[in-house]
Amino acid sequence: MNDKKVPPPPVLPPSFNIRDNFCLFHKGPIQGETYTCPTCKTPYCLECAKKAKLEGKLCIKCKQLVIA
Ligand SMILES: [Zn+2]
Ligand SMILES: [Zn+2]
Repeated sequence: MNDKKVPPPPVLPPSFNIRDNFCLFHKGPIQGETYTCPTCKTPYCLECAKKAKLEGKLCIKCKQLVIA
């Protein structure tokens, strides 16, 4: 009798990818209009980008000035 169970193939957890609509400034889904960094093409909320510009914050990814 051979009822040895075959182990199921390992299921890899979904890797955490920055989704297209993920804003790195407020760390959540982009709401409303989207601002795209002209240098690295990272999308942010337009509202977050405007705030970042006022506060002199830099793009999280490429450290370029936000020019929303
Ligand atoms: Zn950038
Ligand atoms: Zn945002």
